[in-house]
Amino acid sequence: MSLGRTVKLNTGAAIPQLGFGTWQAEPGQVEAAVFEALKKAFGGEVPNLKREDVFITSKLWNSQHRPDDVAGALDDCLAELGLEYLDLYLVHFPVAFDEQKDVHQNLFPLESNGDVKMLNDVSIVDTWRAMTKLDKKKARAVGVSNHTKEHLQALIDGTGVTPAANQIERHPRLLQSDLIQFCKEKNIHITEYSAFGNNMFNEPLLVQHATVKEVASKYNATPAQVILAWATVGGHSVIPKSVTASRIQENFQEVELSKEDFEKVEQIGVKEPRRFNIPYIANKPRWPVNIFGEPEEKDAPHKVVV
Ligand code: NAP
Repeated sequence: MSLGRTVKLNTGAAIPQLGFGTWQAEPGQVEAAVFEALKKAFGGEVPNLKREDVFITSKLWNSQHRPDDVAGALDDCLAELGLEYLDLYLVHFPVAFDEQKDVHQNLFPLESNGDVKMLNDVSIVDTWRAMTKLDKKKARAVGVSNHTKEHLQALIDGTGVTPAANQIERHPRLLQSDLIQFCKEKNIHITEYSAFGNNMFNEPLLVQHATVKEVASKYNATPAQVILAWATVGGHSVIPKSVTASRIQENFQEVELSKEDFEKVEQIGVKEPRRFNIPYIANKPRWPVNIFGEPEEKDAPHKVVV
């Protein structure tokens, strides 16, 4: 069972530090995996669980950025999940796609060249303003995902409302130190995705990394447990994904690292930095937009509309 640690969002709500992700789980697998995760997280007490025992996050998709679409998108999401409220609702990317038809039918509207069709007349500030006006009974906290310091600053300057959270790629090869420092100063909670370095490039997961394995053997722990322990230092939350019952159980079995071993894991990112989730090079269809200012994105014809 997990240690059940929580941290406070800037709304005052408590978010668990160790969560569970479902992206890339096949539809039939999601239900079984979520059931397994709930059993492990709550010590088998699933039948007695109440809605308020579980913290649920979902996101606004890129084709739903027009301010007038935001409230309807949340209603849609709640209906799909069969929920009355979300604990946290995030803007998935600081990127708008140009699609007005049913978003479920076409997640990726295309240009004739095969790239995703971008929408350039809605800024991230416009979308964020609409997020801040959502009914708090339906979205108890609102935040963003994949936003850089500059994007976050623009949202704060443009609306006076600081996002409760920023869900970002973070793993031992992507430390995100500057962004984390900025978020700490602004009281923006960090949730980390792809903690095991999941990627589209067929690179091995970081559970295979020699340094992670070496630290794991010291604690009689698994490499995944070491990565998750590293991930939560600093009050962040992390959302490992697995559809494998034994791994779900393993991931909820928490260990704590000494300062020295935390530093050892951190050195991986100092020596071998790598961001995997760059939609301009990693995604098919390609998103022709420079989001993070990485060298690989320099030829992208669109930029984030601030
Ligand atoms: P991840 O959690 O880093 O890695 C998932 C992979 O690790 C799967 O292949 C899984 O395999 C494997 N795995 C899980 N536990 C393991 C263990 N104990 N030992 C060995 N392998 C293990 O990657 P992710 O799915 O990219 O990220 C996690 C969650 O973050 C997603 O589900 C999603 O909710 C969120 N996310 C958000 C964004 C965003 O833009 N905001 C982007 C990506 C992901 P099996 O499933 O086969 O067991």
